[in-house]
Amino acid sequence: MNYEDYIADVPNFPEEGVTFRDITPLMADGPAFRSALKDIADFARDKEVDVIVGPEARGFIVGCPVAYELEIGFVPARKKGKLPRPTKTIDYGLEYGKSTLQIHEDAIKPGQRVLIVDDLLATGGTIKATIDLVESFGAEVVGAAFLIELEEFAARDKISDYDVFTILKY
Ligand code: IMP
Repeated sequence: MNYEDYIADVPNFPEEGVTFRDITPLMADGPAFRSALKDIADFARDKEVDVIVGPEARGFIVGCPVAYELEIGFVPARKKGKLPRPTKTIDYGLEYGKSTLQIHEDAIKPGQRVLIVDDLLATGGTIKATIDLVESFGAEVVGAAFLIELEEFAARDKISDYDVFTILKY
């Protein structure tokens, strides 16, 4: 499957000089989307993952179907103020701007094996924040999987201790 055919390149979005990789054409194509999700599930299958964590918002779109395929649960890492019950919180820097992620404080148990799933790895800021937040629960991050990796940002240097899987590299 040539996944690149299903990614739309959008120059100067969300700001001048940034090329946004839009995954919505991939999501809209049944066989391509399913194949990409199965690739991630295959990467995770022998890792004895207890739960998938996906950061808002595209981490939900990619992470939930992988959780379904693996017959395990999904925990959302949401932006500030969205979760209704007590949370653990982390603040972090992005490729463009700053953000905060929160997870319900009863959503992950110490010792659980966690796979983090998101659509795209750029600077690695989001994944690093998500890893730190998950580890603050006493859980173990057994891997991270993405549809797309932007290699120019060398995010793997930040997360070299982790098993990182990406389907498509730019
Ligand atoms: P990072 O934190 O710099 O690694 O950026 C990754 C996060 O920003 C992910 O949650 C992505 O959803 C989002 N992101 C950054 N650039 C793009 C892009 O070109 N397309 C889609 N999402 C992006």
